[in-house]
Amino acid sequence: MSNPTIAIVGSGPIGSTYARVLLEQVPNARVVMFEAGPQLTDVPGESVRNILDPAEKARAREMSQGPQAGAFRESLGIPAATVTEGMFTARQGTHLLDFGGAGSAHASSFPAAAAATNVGGQGAHWTCATPSPAFSEKIPFIADDEWDALIEDAKRLLHVHSAAFADSKVGEAIRTLLDEEFGAELPDGYGVGTLPVAGDPQPDGSVRWAGADVVLGPLTDKDSPLSQQFELRDLTLVRRVELDGNRVSGVTVQDLRTGETSFVAADIVVVAADAFRSPQLLWASGIRPAALGHYLTEHPVVISTVALDAEKMQRYASEEDLKAELARRALNPADPVAAVNRIPFSEPEHPFSVQVMYTETTPFPMEPGTPYSENRWGYVNMGYGMRKHPRYEDAVTFDDNEADYRGFPNMTIDYALTEREETEIAQATERLRRAGKALGVFVAEPRLMPNGSSLHYQGTMRLGAADDGTSVADPWSRVWGYENLVVGGNALIPTATAMNPTLMSVAIAVRGARKAAGELGSKGA
Ligand code: FAD
Repeated sequence: MSNPTIAIVGSGPIGSTYARVLLEQVPNARVVMFEAGPQLTDVPGESVRNILDPAEKARAREMSQGPQAGAFRESLGIPAATVTEGMFTARQGTHLLDFGGAGSAHASSFPAAAAATNVGGQGAHWTCATPSPAFSEKIPFIADDEWDALIEDAKRLLHVHSAAFADSKVGEAIRTLLDEEFGAELPDGYGVGTLPVAGDPQPDGSVRWAGADVVLGPLTDKDSPLSQQFELRDLTLVRRVELDGNRVSGVTVQDLRTGETSFVAADIVVVAADAFRSPQLLWASGIRPAALGHYLTEHPVVISTVALDAEKMQRYASEEDLKAELARRALNPADPVAAVNRIPFSEPEHPFSVQVMYTETTPFPMEPGTPYSENRWGYVNMGYGMRKHPRYEDAVTFDDNEADYRGFPNMTIDYALTEREETEIAQATERLRRAGKALGVFVAEPRLMPNGSSLHYQGTMRLGAADDGTSVADPWSRVWGYENLVVGGNALIPTATAMNPTLMSVAIAVRGARKAAGELGSKGA
């Protein structure tokens, strides 16, 4: 096939992985990436956390909020306060699916579900935590050796650093206290440690956080020949994937600046438009496998805030260490580099993923004079992420008779926690109490966040080993029955997981992209 065209829907980390791997492997291909939202930064897809100016950062976040941004939100009559802020992950930059105005999704059982609409997708706003899946989190039909290599590729694409912040003495003190409490119960290699993050440490101790920009890499570097083969069209909404029998022929797109609609022919279409809008686009295009939208999972999250106990911390860290930590955080006060620790998922001992983030202030205002409203040694925000076991009935479904605010079949999300999850939530809450006691005093008691809060939505286009109605895509991410239609994103994860999913989804995308590149290559031959 001479000069094949690849159309990619969505410019987040996953669409960007497809663009990068496909162009590196098929350098004569042309990749056109369509993104419904605006470009926020000069370098496409950069993390807004790298923007130092608070006003500029706030503007970039508002521009990502689709239906809830500024003038559009006002035209719908929705108060700004509808967009809730999370306690751990700054949710600025995202917009609720069930925002309550005309054309809003129906998601009362999953109320915190949110998306980002901008170049870079949620990857312009993410916290950059990139742990690897382990034990039953992994995909059973991909061999371990191949999987390990894919994860290493994904780490390289996302600029993952395992030892980030390992030099923080405050972080080390927190780790030591947690290890004293839990270490004996955890298996070798899965104890208390630092959290791998996606970003490049800078000489001054700050971090340049990674987004889709680092994944795109040479594709947006004018000096690279690959950039000649790559086109990113922002504010361009893909309305339909067009079919020709059991193949896709291209996409119908709408330029949101002019309103004009056009058809773009493509040899391969990759849909990586998040776990709700990707299945919605497939449904709208008449591609409706039985499992589409079903088996929705996320991570139930229990959170709390603890004031660190000075006496305990001083056993392992000095005043000088505290000063050094605060100085480093002051380099970017709006998005400080925190000492981030974790306890990873392990089975059967610890089916939870725990994040412990240091902060000098509480994430909520405290009345001056109340106990621990001032705490010289600071605080930690702690979150336990848990598994949701996949069930057909947890689903996003689409209604052909009701249009959403963009004119797509509207979404309804049905979701419920079962006894299985309730049991693990109770166990996690108990451990969170122990962790809190080990470190200091609770200033916010453990509480379960509303469904949808994790921002890690999985399962709605799951991978499967066989086309038996319980999956949407084959082991190489191609939609069953459509050999040149590829899907990507957290929606493909078929397992129950506790860890942050982006690294895993990039690994799956690398595998899918290589297969697609191989197909293009062999057709060319
Ligand atoms: P997205 O990044 O969501 O990108 C999809 C893009 O598709 C969007 O830009 C959207 O506008 C576009 N799109 C949708 N429909 C269309 C259409 N019809 N036409 C054209 N474009 C379309 N994950 C982690 O692993 N670790 C973390 O620490 C972490 N923290 C997070 C913190 C926050 C505040 C947020 C918001 C997310 C966080 N995540 C984290 C989740 C992570 O950002 C996502 O897993 C990741 O961005 C998914 O990548 P994606 O490319 O599949 O989708």
